[in-house]
Amino acid sequence: MRKPVIAGNWKLFKTTSEAVELVNGLKPLVNSANHCEIIVAPVFTVLTSVNQAISGSNINLSAQDCFWEEEGAFTGEVSPRMLVDAGCSHVIIGHSERRQYFGETDEMVNKRLKAALKSGLTVIVCIGETLAEREANNTFDILRTQVSGAMAGIAAEDLKGIIIAYEPVWAIGTGRTATDQQAQEAHAFIRRLIMELYGADAAQGIRILYGGSVKPENIKGLMGQPDIDGALVGGASLKADSFAAIVNYDK
Ligand code: PEP
Repeated sequence: MRKPVIAGNWKLFKTTSEAVELVNGLKPLVNSANHCEIIVAPVFTVLTSVNQAISGSNINLSAQDCFWEEEGAFTGEVSPRMLVDAGCSHVIIGHSERRQYFGETDEMVNKRLKAALKSGLTVIVCIGETLAEREANNTFDILRTQVSGAMAGIAAEDLKGIIIAYEPVWAIGTGRTATDQQAQEAHAFIRRLIMELYGADAAQGIRILYGGSVKPENIKGLMGQPDIDGALVGGASLKADSFAAIVNYDK
C-alpha cells in the first residue's frame, strides 16, 4: 500500500515571517490528516525557522535543491548534509525550472540524487516533457531518458528513499492541468519503466506524484487514478487554505 504524499513547492516566495505565518496557518487545518504525508519546501533561508514552526506537527520539511558535494570551495551551493542539519527530511531535485533556467541535466540530477540519498534524505525527483516534446509525440521517450538518466547507478534498495514527481512542463504554473487520463497514462508508463529497471515489487512500491496546476478543484480526480500517489503543488501551496484543501482531498 503506497501512502500518498502531498508536497508544496514554495519556489522563490516567502520571507521568514511570511513562511512562518503560512505554516502556522496550515498546521491546524491539516493536523488530522493521517491518510497522506505532508511536505513543504521553502527557500533555503527560511528552512530553520519553518523547521521550528512545524516541530511536533505532521508536516515534513523539504529543500528545493541540493548540491552533490558535502563541502568545499563551491560558493553559493548547499549540501545535503547541511539540509539535514537545517531539519530537512526531503529534497526536491531536477525541477523543470532548474532544468529550464539553470541548465540542469539528467547527469546532474543523478549526482544530486546519489548525494542526497547518502545523507539520508528522501528525494523527490522531478521529470516531465515540454509542450513541444508532447506535441512531437516524444513524451514517452523523454520520460524514459529522464528516468534512466536520474536512476543510473541507483540500487533497488535505494528506491525507498525516492519519490518521482511527473510534472509536464506545459502544466506548471500555467493553469493548464493534465487531464486525469493524461496524467494516469504517464504515471503508468513511469511505473513500467521502474519495473523494467528494478522489477515488479519495486514498481509497485515507488510513489509517483503528479505536478502541474494542481488545485483543490482537480485533486480528487487526479487522486482517483490508480498510479497517482500524490501531488507536488506550486502556486496553490502558497496559501494555507488552498494547500489544506488539497491535503484534505479525502474529505
Ligand atoms: C511546481 O512548482 O512543481 C508546480 C507544479 O507548480 P504549479 O502547481 O504552480 O503548477
